[in-house]
Amino acid sequence: HIYKNFLYTKEIQKRFSKLISEHELSVKRLESFFDFSPIGIFFYNKDLKVIYINDYLANRIIGAKKEKILGFDLNSLKDKSFLPTLKHTLKDGFSKYRGPYKTTMTDKKLWIHLISSRIEIDKDRYEYVAIMIDQTELHQAHDRIEYLAYYDELTDIPKRKIFIDELKKALSVYKRKKTRSTLIYFDLDNFKDINDYMGHNVGDELLKHVSIKTRKAIRDTDIVARMGGDEFAVLLTNLPKEKNSAIIKSLEVAKRIKKYVSENFYVEDKIFNTDLSIGIVLVDDSFKDVYEIVKYADAAMYKAKQDSKDGIVIFDEALEAEIKQKYTIKDELKTAIKEHQFELYLQPKVNKEFKVFSAEALVRWNHPQRGLVMPDVFIPVLNDFGMMGDFTLEVLRLAKDISKYLPSYFVLSVNISAQDIQSISFVSNIKNIIKDFNCKLDLELTEQMFINNVEVSQENMIKLSKLGVEFSLDDFGTGYSSLTYLKQLPFNYVKIDQSFVRDMINDIDDLAIVKTIIAMAHTLGLKTISEGVETQHQCDILREMGCDYFQGYFYGKPLPVDEFVKLL
Ligand code: C2E
Ligand code: CA
Ligand code: CA
Repeated sequence: HIYKNFLYTKEIQKRFSKLISEHELSVKRLESFFDFSPIGIFFYNKDLKVIYINDYLANRIIGAKKEKILGFDLNSLKDKSFLPTLKHTLKDGFSKYRGPYKTTMTDKKLWIHLISSRIEIDKDRYEYVAIMIDQTELHQAHDRIEYLAYYDELTDIPKRKIFIDELKKALSVYKRKKTRSTLIYFDLDNFKDINDYMGHNVGDELLKHVSIKTRKAIRDTDIVARMGGDEFAVLLTNLPKEKNSAIIKSLEVAKRIKKYVSENFYVEDKIFNTDLSIGIVLVDDSFKDVYEIVKYADAAMYKAKQDSKDGIVIFDEALEAEIKQKYTIKDELKTAIKEHQFELYLQPKVNKEFKVFSAEALVRWNHPQRGLVMPDVFIPVLNDFGMMGDFTLEVLRLAKDISKYLPSYFVLSVNISAQDIQSISFVSNIKNIIKDFNCKLDLELTEQMFINNVEVSQENMIKLSKLGVEFSLDDFGTGYSSLTYLKQLPFNYVKIDQSFVRDMINDIDDLAIVKTIIAMAHTLGLKTISEGVETQHQCDILREMGCDYFQGYFYGKPLPVDEFVKLL
């Protein structure tokens, strides 16, 4: 019996120790699971003392020794943001917290998500567990995204959206108070060149320079925003309601901005500088909405860029009328293209034997009310509103119809714009039209078109010249580019600008320029055409200098097609 008992006890002992070791293993597993899991876990009791904390929470989230935290009285947390949550759990068994939290022992600023829950250990004996997830990085990223939606990362100033909101406020202030605001809108005169030729890092530095200098030129209560690209806007608030005083004040600030921004700045020991074109608009309720205010500020700036001495234009009634007129023309032009209101006139080009070998097609608009409208009036509008594409196709279709009346050796020249030659679909569009051409097609391009984006233009031109299209470089001498640079493009003719032809009689500098252009063109294998020849005298001088072809009133004015063909 004793022996049996002994065996039994032995057996029990064995089972027990097996149970113990199994239990230890599962505790170990659980603990290591707790320690290695990428979330913070702690247990506390009803007195709010910490009775367990996992490695991750102690080491990674808080950054303090486990032993120091064990036994910690949660009532003495410095930041008590989630204390109510823990207390709440004592009563209700569950609670959560999401928000900022600063650690007591290490002063770390965190953003956490905390869930706590009651666990029944025994009958009526409870412990409490809390899980803490560190969402600081996520939260920062979220903040950053939010920030970037409203602020420009590079210059650290507000973007368009905030500016528009502020402008709306300014407009409602105008209605209620005795003060007014003005909008100063500006862009940089050489940003694209600096960016393209000096590299984007210099462009970035330039933009930073502009925002720093502008902020220096205005009061803290005024706002400067980057509206996109190299365009900036400043809102001056709290100006006198009286119009003239407000204008004087705004002009002062505008000049100061211009002065500060045009100071030199340095990138890697190199000196750079820039200048601004500025448009100013007084904010008041004569505008439809704030977008219209921005639109007019932009228009005033554009005007400043084109024709103002000091680069600052204040938007006023005269300018408003001019801009409204532009918008009217724009609307009418849409109809004009659809309803085929355009007509091409032809002006002869002659060779040295005075034989007409070519003609330039010059467009005229048969306006239903205003009669014949010249291209100077509407070509700039088409350009400004990006409407060139459809218009040029219409012109090319007209040219194709005309080519039926011309001999096959004849060269018909058509003017196209930068928007055309830079457009991806241009080649395929021309391909379609050129099939039915009865004579040669020559496209006239001005050198200004090649200042930006040479690559696409070059590609298009090479493709087109393979199809037999010729190219003339129009208004040569009015831009900055050199002939050698333009030699990379497949031009056949260089057209010497009318201004040189007109002035060379009285100005030996102009005479020298014409001579040089002709000589240069010939070394590069290009033919020269003089434009705007009006007298026998001009013609003689140009012939003597070796010019190949001539065009101008002396040989013939632009004529309607039937008259031209009759004369031909
Ligand atoms: P452009 O290409 O330089 O055309 C020459 C302009 O000088 C024409 O004015 C022409 O009538 C004028 N002209 C010709 N010979 C003489 C002369 O001996 N003396 C003087 N004083 N002027 C002369 P127009 O027809 O008013 O055209 C003006 C500009 O409009 C053109 O300048 C061209 O840039 C643009 N343009 C004309 N037709 C078209 C077109 O179909 N498409 C595009 N994109 N632009 C066009
Ligand atoms: Ca031309
Ligand atoms: Ca020209």
